[in-house]
Amino acid sequence: VFPINIKCDYIFNLACPASPIHYQNDPVKTIRTNVNGSINLLEMAKLNNAGIAQASTSEVYGDPLIHPQNEDYNGNVNIIGPRSCYDEGKRCAETLFFDYRRQFGLDIKILRIFNTYGPRLSFNDGRVISNFIIQSLNHKNITVYGDGTQTRSFCFIDDMVEAFILLMNSNKTITGPFNAGNPKEITIFEIANKIIEMTGSKSKIIFEKLPQDDPIRRRPDITKIKSHLKWQPKVNLEIGLKKTIRYFKST
Ligand code: UDP
Repeated sequence: VFPINIKCDYIFNLACPASPIHYQNDPVKTIRTNVNGSINLLEMAKLNNAGIAQASTSEVYGDPLIHPQNEDYNGNVNIIGPRSCYDEGKRCAETLFFDYRRQFGLDIKILRIFNTYGPRLSFNDGRVISNFIIQSLNHKNITVYGDGTQTRSFCFIDDMVEAFILLMNSNKTITGPFNAGNPKEITIFEIANKIIEMTGSKSKIIFEKLPQDDPIRRRPDITKIKSHLKWQPKVNLEIGLKKTIRYFKST
């Protein structure tokens, strides 16, 4: 949130917590990180003539009314809800990136990241995959929020890193925004059962309150990134979960 200047060729801006419990913990700081932080890094990119890529998010679509979501959809975001600090912060960051391009000719790139998981997720991250794996390994209750019929589409970290690097190395005319994620959609109830089965757990599923504005359905349309960057995810959910479970078992 404070201006910095470091000599650089490329900037990847991932400077914001992405887990709902963490970004809602200090919502004003979340907005500052997305808005002031983006301005500070865009200024640094301008001074250094550096390429700059923004980790945007599927949350720019809010609780989407079209399915799957493509990049032309402008979203259905609650302006004043508990998720808004993140959603509107990330939306404003995209606006700033495009304004810096129009006004100063910066080499900008925007990747809209859909749910991503893998080894090295932190134990207190609070998002669904790490919560369910940790609960399963400890034979604790699995906390499904709502009735578990809401969906997500989960992308393995290696695929996401590859998309980010491909985008950064693309030529200056390619800016995005691009959706990046795995288009295979699954309900939260199904993922809970899959993790219980894969870990051989004795855990039971319990149902807790669905958080406000929790999106009901989410799946990326990845036609655009496939055609511009020739990218698509390679790691399926079973293989990705196996690697992630192994990580949590070993730490
Ligand atoms: N969720 C859940 N139990 C948990 C954590 C999350 O049922 O312990 C649900 C959450 O309500 C949402 C989905 O799983 O519908 C994905 O939540 P997460 O926080 O991982 O990411 P989001 O996509 O909401 O940003």
